[in-house]
Amino acid sequence: EEMEGVWEKLEKDGGNSSGNSRIMVFVRLRPMWKKEREAGSRSCVRIVNKRDVYLTEFANENDYLRLKRLRGRHFTFDASFPDTSAQKEVYSTTTAELVEAVLQGRNGSVFCNGATGAGKTYTMLGTVENPGVMVLAIKDLFNKIRQRSYDGNHVVHLSYLEVYNETVRDLLSPGRPLVLREDKQGIVAAGLTHYRAYSTDEVMALLQQGNLNRTTEPTRANETSSRSHAILQVAVEYKVKDASNNAVNRVGKLSLIDLAGSERALATDQRTLRSLEGANINKSLLALSSCINALVEGKKHIPYRNSKLTQLLKDSLGGACNTVMIANISPSNLSFGETQNTLHWADRAKEIRTKACDANEEILQLPESETDQAKLLLELQKEN
Ligand code: ADP
Ligand code: MG
Repeated sequence: EEMEGVWEKLEKDGGNSSGNSRIMVFVRLRPMWKKEREAGSRSCVRIVNKRDVYLTEFANENDYLRLKRLRGRHFTFDASFPDTSAQKEVYSTTTAELVEAVLQGRNGSVFCNGATGAGKTYTMLGTVENPGVMVLAIKDLFNKIRQRSYDGNHVVHLSYLEVYNETVRDLLSPGRPLVLREDKQGIVAAGLTHYRAYSTDEVMALLQQGNLNRTTEPTRANETSSRSHAILQVAVEYKVKDASNNAVNRVGKLSLIDLAGSERALATDQRTLRSLEGANINKSLLALSSCINALVEGKKHIPYRNSKLTQLLKDSLGGACNTVMIANISPSNLSFGETQNTLHWADRAKEIRTKACDANEEILQLPESETDQAKLLLELQKEN
């Protein structure tokens, strides 16, 4: 309830009016598993006021003032979700605004980050009984289109892909690896299926099937997809008249990203990072951490080209896009290091500024009257 004001507040802070906006960063704590409790693990995370996250391991649990003074023990985010938060609450606080913007021709991205088992796939895809952000976003999108009786003008297309070991695969139509190409819209996966969707039910089935197509590691068969990144993209296209009465085509794209488990890649310091290099770790996640660092430090050159994932996320990180990051964490003291690592990266991501996000429009018709055409011709000749 109170949490839904975060986006409004950001606009007041000058986020959009200054021409830049920042990445919105959220944290979600998952419940302790029965198995973990039985193995004697204790909770080491406290969420206070739906914003502050405290790591309480090795400290007096309730001494928050002391924790605030210890480095890396206290963090604050746009909102933090305790382990009792419902899927709908997470969706409406983090993503509902983005769906609204997509319907106005703007781009949005949501990505989940965190260690394997921290709740990324639960947050993004969810279960049949408790559908996650991907499903709730599409449901909301179809509802909004219907409510506004948009005269059947809106067309919704879906694509769902995976990046695994620097190979891009189509999850809706598995087959040969896809090649990334740069075109006028940015980086695209050539030959990717763009599935025209008409209803939520159909999409739900499609996503479940797509998820079964995700690569699982042979050695970790019960930990699905811990090294694969999945990107669902929903594109909404429709025609409107602009201020000068031109018919324009508007396209808004929403990208929903379930990242691979970060435990073997996102090291907090350069030394650990280097010692991990050459080891069998996720190149795309390493490249993502380099891009985040370069963006935070305001570097001119951002090394997007270093991996498939960062090429695909270029627009979401440094382009004109509303971007949301959801950091998923486990409560268990056995995951203390991973949790601290995830929170460190989420904290850094708060510093990233993205560009102002205007509607994507393309004029469909040229002026019709003869005088307008003559003027246009003259202008074209002048330009040559
Ligand atoms: P990840 O994708 O980060 O590896 P999962 O989303 O697969 O982790 O979560 C691991 C397990 O924990 C799953 O069985 C999932 O259903 C459960 N789980 C995760 N988050 C929650 C939550 N918020 N509420 C209930 N169960 C959860
Ligand atoms: Mg997962």
